[in-house]
Amino acid sequence: MPSPEFVKIASWHNPADAEHAKAVLNWNGIDAFIEGADLKTSLSYIGSALGDVKLIVRSEDSKRAQRLLDELSREARDPINGPWFCGECEEVIEPGFDMCWSCGQPREEVEAPFPEVADLATESDGSDPRDPANASLPESASVDETNPYAPPTVQAMFEKIEAEDEPTSQEEAEDLITQSANAAVLGILIPLFGTLYSLFLLFAALRLSWNFSSRTRYLIFQSLAVNFVVSSIWLALLWLFSLM
Ligand SMILES: [Zn+2]
Repeated sequence: MPSPEFVKIASWHNPADAEHAKAVLNWNGIDAFIEGADLKTSLSYIGSALGDVKLIVRSEDSKRAQRLLDELSREARDPINGPWFCGECEEVIEPGFDMCWSCGQPREEVEAPFPEVADLATESDGSDPRDPANASLPESASVDETNPYAPPTVQAMFEKIEAEDEPTSQEEAEDLITQSANAAVLGILIPLFGTLYSLFLLFAALRLSWNFSSRTRYLIFQSLAVNFVVSSIWLALLWLFSLM
């Protein structure tokens, strides 16, 4: 059997688009491979100066693959068969889904227009709105809180980013446990203080969450073990001193 020949049939700037196309081809029984995605993802901050992400198929599949990709790009431009936006959870839903995969609600109830970035050029104080020095955030009062389909303003988008940056109580607890494990080791150098501080952090963490990864559970165990060993050593030393 001759070894199959491979041909490049398409390329994308965005690795996610290539992954999507690959998934569609795989679904249709065509083996497709992506070339350049890892490099592109890890170096994406360099921008599109790097080569594109290529999709490769066996040459015998190339005609059928090309047809499927043509269909795919036609669908993407089609407003009915293209992707749609869920106003409820602000997710872009792949074409073909009549239900939001995130909130599970039907399309006709939650579909909303795609959000647009607030247009700063509408500010009409006579200054050039493209000059960053003249750019101003819209008044938060102008955000219509009652309309869930209102496009997010710059202000609202900043609020969203801040909200996402806030650590969850789970992450906070895991941080505290890491600190507790470190403080336990500190107890070797600063006997009573390090140990008590470590136990305090552990207690604070367990008040926040009880649901931890195995790594964090290991850290809890490590913190307790180190605290136990360190306290034992210091108590034994104190006892020896009291005998002298
Ligand atoms: Zn949704």
